[in-house]
Amino acid sequence: MVEEFAFDNADERRKVRHNGTGWIEVIAGSMFSGKSEELIRRLTRARIARQKVQVFKPGIDVRYSDEEIASHSGQKHLSIPVADTAGMMEHVHDDTEVVGIDEAQFFDMAIIAAVNELAERGKRVIVAGLDQDYTGKPFEPMPQLLSVAEFITKTHAICVKCGATANYSQRTVESEARVEVGASDKYEARCRKCFVPHADAPTPE
Ligand code: ADP
Ligand code: ZN
Repeated sequence: MVEEFAFDNADERRKVRHNGTGWIEVIAGSMFSGKSEELIRRLTRARIARQKVQVFKPGIDVRYSDEEIASHSGQKHLSIPVADTAGMMEHVHDDTEVVGIDEAQFFDMAIIAAVNELAERGKRVIVAGLDQDYTGKPFEPMPQLLSVAEFITKTHAICVKCGATANYSQRTVESEARVEVGASDKYEARCRKCFVPHADAPTPE
């Protein structure tokens, strides 16, 4: 296996590896914080090292393509769209070494038991997702996934109003639906000071 983690504790990692089990890595943060970029980076490196990689995304996220996960900056990786956790588990092959999951906040709560099971079956599971909804509330099942993960990476964007570290996804269109799929047409990255927990006018170009 290739040394792979950007931010994690190497000693802990070796302990995990020596007994043959897998582990869970979670990449969490606001929109535009680089979660998909970081996920794609890790998956690409595993593939280059000839590890067997499978990537899943919820069927709801068809912004760019049915068969790919994509970052806002245009990087891509093949993925399998699935309706729910059960659908994902049906697709995981026994010889898969690395399982990637993007947009994990759109999965059902069964994802927690599922990623634990995959790790126990010896797989490296890399999960990326939004940790807060557009009002700043924890976005299940991300809090639970963060709790069970061996390794956690928090990513940040840059506040479009003031340039500070952005931890929030500001909705810029009127809607009270928790899930309003979109990108820079409907959201922008904001810091704690500039975030308002409801729709707010977008920053002028
Ligand atoms: P996420 O998966 O967290 O939504 P992506 O990996 O898809 O993030 O996209 C990250 C990219 O978004 C950055 O590399 C940059 O090109 C772009 N981006 C757009 N707005 C911002 C912002 N306010 N701060 C940082 N990056 C931004
Ligand atoms: Zn700000």
